[in-house]
Amino acid sequence: MLQRKRTGIFFPRFQGQRLRDFPQALAGVLDKDNVSYYDGVYATNNPYYVKPATEEMLLKVHSKDMIERVKRTAYYEAASYSAGGTIQAALEILQGGIDNAFVFTGFGDHHAGRNYFGGWCYFNGAAIAIAMLKEEGVRRFAIVDTDSHHADGTRDIFCQDREVLHLCFCYQHYQDEYGNVDVAIPYGISDDAYVRKMEQEFCRRAMAFKPEFIFWELGYDAIRGEYGDKGISEDCPAKLARVIKDTADSVCQGRLVTILCGGSGRKLATYIIPRVIKELAGLG
Ligand SMILES: [Zn+2]
Ligand SMILES: [Zn+2]
Repeated sequence: MLQRKRTGIFFPRFQGQRLRDFPQALAGVLDKDNVSYYDGVYATNNPYYVKPATEEMLLKVHSKDMIERVKRTAYYEAASYSAGGTIQAALEILQGGIDNAFVFTGFGDHHAGRNYFGGWCYFNGAAIAIAMLKEEGVRRFAIVDTDSHHADGTRDIFCQDREVLHLCFCYQHYQDEYGNVDVAIPYGISDDAYVRKMEQEFCRRAMAFKPEFIFWELGYDAIRGEYGDKGISEDCPAKLARVIKDTADSVCQGRLVTILCGGSGRKLATYIIPRVIKELAGLG
């Protein structure tokens, strides 16, 4: 039986093509009473306003020099909102207002390291959220990354942190004593085989590791026709959502922050995201 969750949807301000159909594409989801919607539009006395990450927050993970370099790009504000959504989602979950969250982003996390950025990732929102949760006394975390590419930035930040299990589905196998794991996803993998890898490689480890929070970097660029094509179908992310949500329900009272990562197609985004959110909310 599906377990209903209080799910927060964080939708800061965006420009660009891939999210053009949102939030309208969430019709039939936003009206459910276990779903709350936060956006970056009306700031005054609005608890559902998505706040951008402040420089003080960014400095918990990134170097001053790197932040200054991002300021010299055109994307500082948008990147601050993207990270801000993830931070706010994590804090809302900690405070008990919601159980899990889906965070729309203009820019992803996983290629942003302590002192560098690239690949359309400027700030590492998950890493900043984890730094802030640690200040609140939360100790153990898992990050699972299903973007097609290696999460070099996230790995840079947590490579020697034994309290963070970092499981990255990418192009090579790797494992070390600090809880960093890469799982190679072969070309032409079926959805079923990918889901089994999730169960065997992530769920099993998460059960043993017992994180208090799970972060999911959801890239959809491994879908057929995308720029990280591994051959999976557009239905695979929702199947993964069910497995990851069940794991969070078993190990950490459902505390799960899902963060939109790579993927470029507008039609795919419009198809995938509402289905993933329905799984998170138990509406699937
Ligand atoms: Zn990618
Ligand atoms: Zn990797």
